[in-house]
Amino acid sequence: MNRDWATHLSKLLAATALLGVVGLLVGKVAWVMLMGVGLYLIWTLRQARRLHQWLTHEQKPSQPPESYGLWGDLFDGIHRLQKRHEESQDRLKSLLNRVQESTNALNDAVILTNAEGAMDWWNDAANSLLGFKRQVDQGQIIYNLLRDPAFKRYFVNKAYQEPIELASPANLQIQLRIHITLFGHDERLIIAEDISQLTHLERMRKDFVSNVSHEMRTPLTVISGYLETLGDHLDTLPAKWHRPIRTMRHQADRMEQLLADLLLLAKLENTRTRKRDQINLLQPLLEEIRADAMEMDAYREQAICLTGNATTGLLADAPQLRSALSNLVFNAVKYTPAEGDIEIHWWSNAQGVHIAVRDTGIGIDPVHIPRLTERFYRVDGGRHSETGGSGLGLAIVKHVLLNHQGSLEIRSQPGLGSEFICHFPAHRHPPESS
Ligand code: ADP
Repeated sequence: MNRDWATHLSKLLAATALLGVVGLLVGKVAWVMLMGVGLYLIWTLRQARRLHQWLTHEQKPSQPPESYGLWGDLFDGIHRLQKRHEESQDRLKSLLNRVQESTNALNDAVILTNAEGAMDWWNDAANSLLGFKRQVDQGQIIYNLLRDPAFKRYFVNKAYQEPIELASPANLQIQLRIHITLFGHDERLIIAEDISQLTHLERMRKDFVSNVSHEMRTPLTVISGYLETLGDHLDTLPAKWHRPIRTMRHQADRMEQLLADLLLLAKLENTRTRKRDQINLLQPLLEEIRADAMEMDAYREQAICLTGNATTGLLADAPQLRSALSNLVFNAVKYTPAEGDIEIHWWSNAQGVHIAVRDTGIGIDPVHIPRLTERFYRVDGGRHSETGGSGLGLAIVKHVLLNHQGSLEIRSQPGLGSEFICHFPAHRHPPESS
């Protein structure tokens, strides 16, 4: 570039010198110089006009106007810049086309909205899954089309850690799982996945478990009844039958407990099951549960103390609450040695109501904690059969808490003990109780 400039400058100086010499020869240096500058100015203005015409031409000719010298370089430079710009635009366009083509090929619906929820773009799957119409719905607010109040709440609250599940407005048979991701200035990328198949399988699994449990109840009741009668008349039977009958009764009891837990879980999972919220005073409820725990076969005279405010209440379904807290207290009894302590502590604060069951028992290795609330999850199979648990207790606790918008926190150290804390949200804390 510097070399080009030096060439242009030297050409200009040479032309000026030539004009000077011509001027000297004709004896009119000033006139010849003035004429030269005038001609140069006219030529420069002409080039500037050509540049202007080229740049403002509606359908720009692909080639720049022919010129030479400084102006020739200027035309070529601008042309090069233009070409580079066009190339990068073409690249961007083809990238955009590829993104659109690939998202159109997706089975999941993909929607882009601005901060207010106006729909900027969506793929073909959104048309079929959600019933959007490209011409009509462009720029519409998404929650005016997906008119489920739960979706509007989810969209507005911006708490997108968990997806939301709802039926499609286009076809109520289509069950959707919707994830939202925030980007840019509060813009949203919304992905809706068709989970109808999964929901159907899940429903079949629940129905199967619930039906099998129901069907098994009647024969088991008959067997248990006969075993009980036999047990009541053990002294009339030969001694060799005593042990088998006792074992059979014990196992029948376990099976009955298992079936009862399975049916309870099925009921808790069924969103259509009506939940009757009422104010439960925690102290009397927990005192009753302590009395039940002390009646358990596994009870080994451990100290069970209750600490908390006598007036604290909780808005919850009474049988569900009782079942969850009983499971936690009975577990503490089962997994704490005779000399151990069990404490049931409850309190309320701005976050809500909290109930903790602490024990100084055998504790749990932290690797098991994330899976403890899974059905039939066993920390130790051998220990499990010894304590005779169904493996469903903590799954029941989790579902009861989910039904009450609460959560379960588990802290434990092997050999030191465990703490299970039930957290209930603030709206479950009746204002008059503290
Ligand atoms: P189970 O009927 O076997 O007690 P749960 O679902 O209630 O089933 O508990 C799952 C597992 O969690 C238990 O098998 C046990 O290993 C462990 N667990 C639960 N509570 C305690 C506790 N308080 N102390 C130690 N381990 C516990």
